Amino acid sequence: MTRFALVFCLVTVLQPVAGARPIQAGQSSDATALDLLLLLFEAIAERNPNYDDTLGAIATLDSQQQEERLAALAERNARDPRVAALVDSLLASSAYKMYFRQFSNVTPDVHRSVFSALPYRAIPSPADIGQVQLELFHHRDSLAALVKKISMVNIDQAVSIARRWAPSGNLLVPTTYYILDGNADAFAKDGTVCFDLYGVLLSKRPALNRYNNLADIPNAEIEAVLAHEFQHVFAQPHLYPPTRKFDNWRDLWEDVIIRRIVSEGVASQCNPPYGLKKAIYEDSVVIGFWLRELERVMGQIRRNETTEDSVRAWLERSYQESARQQLADYLKRTYPEADQQILLQEHIADRPRGIYSLGWWMVSHIAAAPGGHDSAVQLLDSPHEVIRLYNATVTDSLLKIAL
Ligand SMILES: [Zn+2]
Repeated sequence: MTRFALVFCLVTVLQPVAGARPIQAGQSSDATALDLLLLLFEAIAERNPNYDDTLGAIATLDSQQQEERLAALAERNARDPRVAALVDSLLASSAYKMYFRQFSNVTPDVHRSVFSALPYRAIPSPADIGQVQLELFHHRDSLAALVKKISMVNIDQAVSIARRWAPSGNLLVPTTYYILDGNADAFAKDGTVCFDLYGVLLSKRPALNRYNNLADIPNAEIEAVLAHEFQHVFAQPHLYPPTRKFDNWRDLWEDVIIRRIVSEGVASQCNPPYGLKKAIYEDSVVIGFWLRELERVMGQIRRNETTEDSVRAWLERSYQESARQQLADYLKRTYPEADQQILLQEHIADRPRGIYSLGWWMVSHIAAAPGGHDSAVQLLDSPHEVIRLYNATVTDSLLKIAL
């Protein structure tokens, strides 16, 4: 999982072991939600022929009339039996059932409003789902090539990368559910993986040619992200054993932060950052910022100088605003002013989120030391060793963690 990381649930839905019998490519992949979405777009396009002309006519109305007309068109979509049945099927698919268990910021009703409003407007919605679905609708003819890629992904390859970073044992291959949504990225939950092709792949391509040559996206790029998520599934029983219990919120949150760092740090060995993201994730100012933040907040927790709400808010910001600020500051230090704004937009997904930056930095250092690969994997069973092991790899006092 790459967002809202904690998973306490036990592994429930699993498929046969890779070693027990050969895994066929795509055997554990479920693209039902992608197929349903494309059928839904087709049904919406048929229900709204000449929608460009309709939009042109709407633009000549006053704002109240526009609102009424758009609401009537959305109502007509919602009542269309084929559109309604496809929306129902999509939102009841295994992929979206998993998705709604993971995210509290959206409900099926949000998606219903978003789809009904197509192809005329984007409903304001969490994570801009409305805008994403409108964009996807307009590029629906290009999406078939992306859906086809799923069947060409080499699951064996992803499994073997993930296994290298997982404790040995009975590692079952998780089923992967694919969606095109914009809210999710990729995440593991209950022993399965949900993979948002928009969040993982499309959103990271420049907006202007986002839908060009989708067939050329390297399979390895998808396999590396899958490997990251598979590793989370393999690591989950080790990193989050049912015996994990706490007497107070301070011990709980100290543990949450450490386990998240280890979780993402080891998983990201499966899909190491590259290009600009790597430069940001290994920038000494960015890393220095997050090392000092970790010391500050952990120190406050240990000395009982903060509240649970403050820690939770800090952690939320570390994924969002604080990470965005670090990205903006990095770009200011590194690029001419004229380029900074566009780079910020195009690389927002590469913002150095605290948990990920610290995880990548610390676990990579541990893994690079002699015998380090095994030490990194053993962290999944003893995550609190991460500070000591990391400190042993660095000589620069500024890079050490004073905890
Ligand atoms: Zn992850």
